[in-house]
Amino acid sequence: MSDQKPFSPPVADNPAAHRIVQLVSNVQQYFMQEQDLFGNIIYPSSDDEGKKKGARAKVANGYPDEPWAGTVTLAELNSTICDCQKCSLGATRTKFVFGVGNPNADIVLIGEAPGADEDAQGEPFVGRAGQLLNKILDAIHLKREEVYICNILKCRPPNNREPAPEEVEKCEPYLWKQLELIKPKIILCLGRVSAQVLLKTTDTLTKLRENVHDYRGIPLLVTYHPAALLRNPNWKRPAWEDVQKLRKMYDELKAIKS
Ligand code: URA
Repeated sequence: MSDQKPFSPPVADNPAAHRIVQLVSNVQQYFMQEQDLFGNIIYPSSDDEGKKKGARAKVANGYPDEPWAGTVTLAELNSTICDCQKCSLGATRTKFVFGVGNPNADIVLIGEAPGADEDAQGEPFVGRAGQLLNKILDAIHLKREEVYICNILKCRPPNNREPAPEEVEKCEPYLWKQLELIKPKIILCLGRVSAQVLLKTTDTLTKLRENVHDYRGIPLLVTYHPAALLRNPNWKRPAWEDVQKLRKMYDELKAIKS
């Protein structure tokens, strides 16, 4: 056996090597996300529409035994999963909080998990944070009914604690299926947790807000959670800048469409 040490480039001293390591890590992360979503399946189709159809079919293919996999509308998906008991939150919830809004929305807003008000009413963002969210939407001339609003988790964690990894693992495929059916043009993550879950990262909210991310071909923006804005009004200004950016992207998108 050779006693030679494996080659290890002095990455820290070498910007080119550092970029390559970063690139490899990005590619790895991309394929891990693909695998999470679709299992070990590669796109079979070369044309774009075919790819989209293939991608949609593959969310279902990744979960062939799930009754929800073949659902074709949000209402059907909701009624198929609303009695879910895949994690312990099923036993403690009052209501399953599927999501609300335009089933063909161009913009989907994704929060963390239902709170007490949402758990009681079965609708996301209806408490104080929800009222602030309505005002934020109003400020960029969007109505709640125009967008789609949902959460990473569909059931309330006790005492509003952060979602546990096993809860995310069980619940996230429902969100993937929702996104597959809605086909939004832009995603806005409300808060760090939602962005970290979707992007599979541990980056801070500050860092996540800096860029427009690519979530499976959909531009994804990140802003403060409305509940955080209630606690710290100093963040309202940067949050305002985030939603202005969202509005601008939406306008550009509509201009291309028409
Ligand atoms: N916070 C969230 O993240 N989602 C809600 O629906 C309500 C509060």
